[in-house]
Amino acid sequence: MSILDILADNLRQGVVTLRYPQRVPPPPNYRGLVQIQSEECVGCASCAYVCVSAAIQVTDQPETYTWSYDPGKCTFCGRCVDACPTHALQMQEERPPIYHQAQKLAVTYRMAYPRCEGCGKPFKVATEILRQRAYGELSEQTEQLLRLCPTCRQKEALKLMIEARRVKEATQ
Ligand code: SF4
Ligand code: SF4
Repeated sequence: MSILDILADNLRQGVVTLRYPQRVPPPPNYRGLVQIQSEECVGCASCAYVCVSAAIQVTDQPETYTWSYDPGKCTFCGRCVDACPTHALQMQEERPPIYHQAQKLAVTYRMAYPRCEGCGKPFKVATEILRQRAYGELSEQTEQLLRLCPTCRQKEALKLMIEARRVKEATQ
């Protein structure tokens, strides 16, 4: 194609760029800002672990944890969404807004850990999905133990062992 043909084509097409604030619509399956459904989050920090640009941080406090996300550091790779065992993360399908201040779109959520079914103390629980990944199917008794904090779990496991030994001795 000669330069004259290219020029003629360009003249025929007219202007193809858009003036701000107009924007080209995003393509299907566009990966925009990461969003969290905080009620689904269990604070496992898998998202922060897989995030190579440290855009997501999960930090522990005694009874709560903080989940924070800075889109300024995000590469929109989607690894955090894939890694989240509870599907608490998703990515917006529209383009992020234009901003001029650093960290303008950064968000932070503070959430409470689930409470132990024995003493009521908050503790970092392994979700059912993570437990299944690690151990496969577990018995109901083991599931009950895993819903207890480490201290209550130790006490309960000791009680179960003593009871099992008593039953064994009684049947001998
Ligand atoms: S999309 Fe990628 S870079 Fe952005 S927060 Fe998730 S893992 Fe990190
Ligand atoms: S991976 Fe999911 S559940 Fe775990 S801390 Fe991140 S958002 Fe929460």
